[in-house]
Amino acid sequence: MAQTLFEKVWNQHAVRTLPTGQTQLYIGLHLIHEVTSPQAFDMLNARGWKVRAPHRTFATVDHIVPTASVARPFQDAMAEQMTAALERNCAEHKIPLFDLSSGRQGIVHVIGPELGLTQPGMTIACGDSHTSTHGAFGALAFGIGTSQVRDVLASQCLAMDPLKVRRIEVNGRLGRGVYAKDVILEIIRRLGVKGGAGFAYEFGGSAIDRMSMDERMTICNMSIEGGARVGYVNPDETTFAYMRGRQFAPQGDAFERATAWWRSLASDRDARYDDVVEIAASEIQPNVTWGINPGQSVAVDEKLPANADTEALAFMGFVAGQTVKGTRIDVAFVGSCTNARLSDLREAARVVRGHHVAPHVKALVVPGSQAVREAAEREGLDRLFLDAGFEWRGAGCSMCLAMNPDRLEGREICASSSNRNFKGRQGSPTGRTLLMSPAMVAAAAIAGEVVDVREFVGAEVLVGH
Ligand code: SF4
Repeated sequence: MAQTLFEKVWNQHAVRTLPTGQTQLYIGLHLIHEVTSPQAFDMLNARGWKVRAPHRTFATVDHIVPTASVARPFQDAMAEQMTAALERNCAEHKIPLFDLSSGRQGIVHVIGPELGLTQPGMTIACGDSHTSTHGAFGALAFGIGTSQVRDVLASQCLAMDPLKVRRIEVNGRLGRGVYAKDVILEIIRRLGVKGGAGFAYEFGGSAIDRMSMDERMTICNMSIEGGARVGYVNPDETTFAYMRGRQFAPQGDAFERATAWWRSLASDRDARYDDVVEIAASEIQPNVTWGINPGQSVAVDEKLPANADTEALAFMGFVAGQTVKGTRIDVAFVGSCTNARLSDLREAARVVRGHHVAPHVKALVVPGSQAVREAAEREGLDRLFLDAGFEWRGAGCSMCLAMNPDRLEGREICASSSNRNFKGRQGSPTGRTLLMSPAMVAAAAIAGEVVDVREFVGAEVLVGH
């Protein structure tokens, strides 16, 4: 019978149906970091349990690491404590740790794919909401809580409720200056932040098919912001080309065999979906959020709706009927697991070249991983950003979540390439976040206000899709 990728991968990992009706699902890859693992290890250690599959468990530090200076001990005692706990736990349970001295450290959702740990057909779990990123490879990737991190450490399994599958087709060509970030913001705007509850989102259509793996990761990363439990793209030649030669990917003949299997996991042509949504790529414009959840976005020059949520308007200091374009910003942040890969930095750099950051703006570029940082430096992107007045930082989550020294102050407004614009998300309870693509962030940094990147540098400077 024809099946979706979701059904194939789910069924292949189902151990049994639990009395609760949930499925006991085997987890192929468990990624851990310093914030959600210490309590899980404490629970494990208190019972004298061992980690069930240390060879399927990999760790890094990302949320709390300072991005300006990584000298130990960290100035923040809590950050030092969390990092030390992870180091201790990894050593005790023989779990590989990509720490700050490894040259491979970075945001967990950036390094998993980069190292070839993330592979098609896997079930993946990580104690972080944006684990859905890994679905870009045709994996089922679940963000989990601390008690579930404990469960996976102890049993390599999770108790999960089955999901329905919604296929979201984006067909046609995206205009220049319209990016994967705009596509996913548009999807969330149309379907709502809770629209995906109970669903896995399968992304497809010609616009998604043409996307690079970096772009597909941006899309899947924010599935969770649309309420979907997981998001994925069927594996194809783009996926396999990305995987080839990665450190933990199968090598030689094993890679060819793996490719044949990965190909077979894609949803069958006549697979049946619980829902199908179609979006024309040509309708998507550069998007920017105006409110306090990622569904509250508009095209950059579109007027805020007359019925816009009054709490969001009041918090952000906007009024219905105005545009976000022209809003003066204080901070510009290019970073996060949504948009801090090499291609994101290249797009931002394309906009920055020959310009300088506005005098009143603090602008940061925070690469998603040490490998991204090194690759960007090989291309001279660090010099380009520094000469333009940006700060060039070490890898980490930085201002996405502000569990480190990178934070907004007071009512500052931040043009941000991250994924959440919740109240207080960037460190100040009254700080304001405008989500947009890295190219739009770069343009805002230079202009000192939100602009349409296509008008700012001319659409011909930008990459089309
Ligand atoms: S960059 Fe932000 S969303 Fe991504 S893992 Fe770090 S804190 Fe979470």
